[in-house]
Amino acid sequence: GSTIGIVGGGQLGRMLAMAAARLGYRAVILEPQADCPAAQVANRQIVGAYDDRAALAELAAASDVLTYEFENVPVDAAKFLAESVPVHPPARALEVAQDRLAEKTFLNGIGISTADFRPVDNDGELAAALAAFGGSGILKTRRMGYDGKGQRVFRDFSGSIAGAFDAMGGVPLILESFVAFEREISVIAARGPDGALAAYDPAENVHRGGILHSSTVPAAIGPATAKAATDAAFAILEALDYVGAIGVEFFVLPGGSLLVNEIAPRVHNSGHWTEAACTVSQFEQHIRAVAALPLGDTRRHFDCAMENLIGDDVRRTEALLAEPDLVLHLYGKAEARTGRKMGHFTRLKPRGI
Ligand code: ATP
Ligand code: MG
Ligand code: MG
Repeated sequence: GSTIGIVGGGQLGRMLAMAAARLGYRAVILEPQADCPAAQVANRQIVGAYDDRAALAELAAASDVLTYEFENVPVDAAKFLAESVPVHPPARALEVAQDRLAEKTFLNGIGISTADFRPVDNDGELAAALAAFGGSGILKTRRMGYDGKGQRVFRDFSGSIAGAFDAMGGVPLILESFVAFEREISVIAARGPDGALAAYDPAENVHRGGILHSSTVPAAIGPATAKAATDAAFAILEALDYVGAIGVEFFVLPGGSLLVNEIAPRVHNSGHWTEAACTVSQFEQHIRAVAALPLGDTRRHFDCAMENLIGDDVRRTEALLAEPDLVLHLYGKAEARTGRKMGHFTRLKPRGI
């Protein structure tokens, strides 16, 4: 097909639309917010809610193949779209990634380790789960959390948790045991409709205030850990019969063994460095997969470090533009609100000749 439909109009949709255009495709996006980052580069925006049947039907009618840029696309919407046009990645990937309980249950079911966890639906279950984890853990909303929102950390907690459940909004929760990780890494991998697999080198990620701050490649891990991470990402792709790019976040434990933190059934912030250090970026890789083109080469041509520009950080633009060996990418957002991802840059370390 020649038109790719994208549900969601944020910066990831924008970068997918750019990659689609470079391969000669048209992009049409569905996004309720007018003048969103993706609208500035897509050929067309359908302004509508993600669960608006009329808008979804319009998107399907305009598209030869469909994808999405965020994991909270309503599963019903994805299934509705899939009745008329192929949707990649599959709705099953959304179901698994949208609910931290379903996600960990799925991962453990295919032999992939995660933090220990307990569903929490009231204060009593929270008290029992905290006791089971020795008083420490991270309480998270099962759904809709991102950038560390909807989380509460308990450290050596021994007081009264009365009201703690309601304080999180009265929604289903999960308590995860607190992982004393040595570092965090992620793998961006992809699977084509023919079953072909590809993965980029693992990135080492640093979070600040729950938001990704930087991704550095190569990560300071040994080859066995890197291979285990890539194998886990491939196993996830195969178990979900997945088509497209995926981001898999890991905790690296002292000694090098891995736990999966979470998966994102889409291109991922920790893979933005690929646009600067690889011939084929994660965005092009995703478009290739959903458009049934051959997957691209994932080799990395530079050591590099990607850093997010969040809120006021955009003030650094001029200084960054003056740096050699730096690739800057801004998302065209007018208002630099606190915590808002405005852009990112990748510093490359050219290899000596
Ligand atoms: P994202 O924007 O990546 O989707 P999110 O809101 O889904 O973020 P998580 O990835 O679950 O949040 O957690 C954010 C960060 O908090 C993790 O990258 C890690 O640094 C820390 N963290 C989360 N869970 C745990 C845990 N069980 N033990 C220790 N640290 C954790
Ligand atoms: Mg998440
Ligand atoms: Mg995360």
